[in-house]
Amino acid sequence: MFGIAMQADQHLQEIRESVKALCATYGEDYWRKLDQSNGYPTEFVREITESGFLGCLIPEAFGGTGLGLIEACAILEEISRSGGHPGAAHAQMYVMGSVLRHGSDAQKEQYLPAIARGELRLQSFGVTEPDTGTDTTSLKTTAKRAGDVYKVNGQKVWISRVQHSDLMVLLARTKPIEERSSKTDGLSCFIVDLRGAEERGLTIQPIDAMINHHSCELFFDDFEIPAENLLGQEHKGFRVVMDGMNAERILIGAECIGDARYFIAKATNYANSRVVFDRPIAQNQGISFPIATAYAQTEAAALMVEKAARLFDAGEACGPEANMAKMLAADASWKAGDTCLQTHGGFGMSREYHIERKLRETRLYQIAPISTNLILSYLSEHVLGMPRSF
Ligand SMILES: Cc1cc2nc3c(=O)[nH]c(=O)nc-3n(C[C@H](O)[C@H](O)[C@H](O)COP(=O)(O)OP(=O)(O)OC[C@H]3O[C@@H](n4cnc5c(N)ncnc54)[C@H](O)[C@@H]3O)c2cc1C
Repeated sequence: MFGIAMQADQHLQEIRESVKALCATYGEDYWRKLDQSNGYPTEFVREITESGFLGCLIPEAFGGTGLGLIEACAILEEISRSGGHPGAAHAQMYVMGSVLRHGSDAQKEQYLPAIARGELRLQSFGVTEPDTGTDTTSLKTTAKRAGDVYKVNGQKVWISRVQHSDLMVLLARTKPIEERSSKTDGLSCFIVDLRGAEERGLTIQPIDAMINHHSCELFFDDFEIPAENLLGQEHKGFRVVMDGMNAERILIGAECIGDARYFIAKATNYANSRVVFDRPIAQNQGISFPIATAYAQTEAAALMVEKAARLFDAGEACGPEANMAKMLAADASWKAGDTCLQTHGGFGMSREYHIERKLRETRLYQIAPISTNLILSYLSEHVLGMPRSF
């Protein structure tokens, strides 16, 4: 038993070392320049795909490496920890899960091997709408069946990486809201081919945002999707989305742990080397204690991320753990980032030090893919049995 655990640890360590080596060839300046120019890390995404890391959750039968979420977490954590921004590519890991779990045999054969080879990029998930926000089951974009196609009309917002993706999984309403039998009934998922989509009724408008996340507004005007691209059962698409949420939250949690560890290392190094009043600032407990606190909070959050990932990999229920992992890790990275900036004094504000970019990037995870309030609401209702407030 102990031997198996040791082997597992060594295998994870090897993955970490390989990702670290790959990331080292893309320094922090690479990410800073992309941030400043709203650029996309095409070369990095290509290399991490070709190395098999991005397809790690695709089973070997479909050409992937067939690893678990625990390995996927290690990969994303190392990218953030290196100073990089895994948000440019992370969705390929979890959006693919919808096809794997709910796709027909033909869909799996058509898409998964090509995704594993890096020939197809499935980087986008179209759920959020401007009018309904977090209230997903009220969304308004419709997909009406017309012969062999569904015609889509409506609007989505904040849909990331659409311009850097060949495919998107879209959630739309296939049954009028008045006719639904439950809140989640009447929504369906589709695999949307984005290649040439702008000539077929899809308008894509990039959003000028605080972070370089390649998010866009989408406008569908009689946009046709072949009926065979329905993913899972018609009207039961909310289930498809829900099934992917735990994996997404755990993976984002791992990214936040990477961010937190990046900030803590950077803060510690700077505190030890910066001399003011003839001594390293680390000698002041006003500087060292916040870093030590951030360290303790990060290590605790990392345990929850690991617990959630191991439950997921064992096929066990992990809703509470996935939500807590994401919330605790996002809090830990935000606090570590704030501490890192404070430790650097005025230099923390300089773009040259990379802290302000990483702080903006990690701030997102208080809001997306689910906000902290909604996690607290989930825990209050579903774990602690208190009444729902909305
Ligand atoms: C950079 C970025 C990338 C994104 N990428 C994608 C993507 O690829 N695909 C996609 O589908 N979406 C994406 N999103 C959307 C993201 O998932 C939503 O922004 C998020 O779910 C919150 O929805 P909202 O912005 O509409 O906030 P709202 O739902 O309007 O909420 C606003 C605030 O009110 C709070 N609130 C709302 N209701 C309650 C309640 N009942 N109790 C307590 N508090 C409440 C929320 O917590 C939040 O703080 C992205 C967002 C951003 C910013």
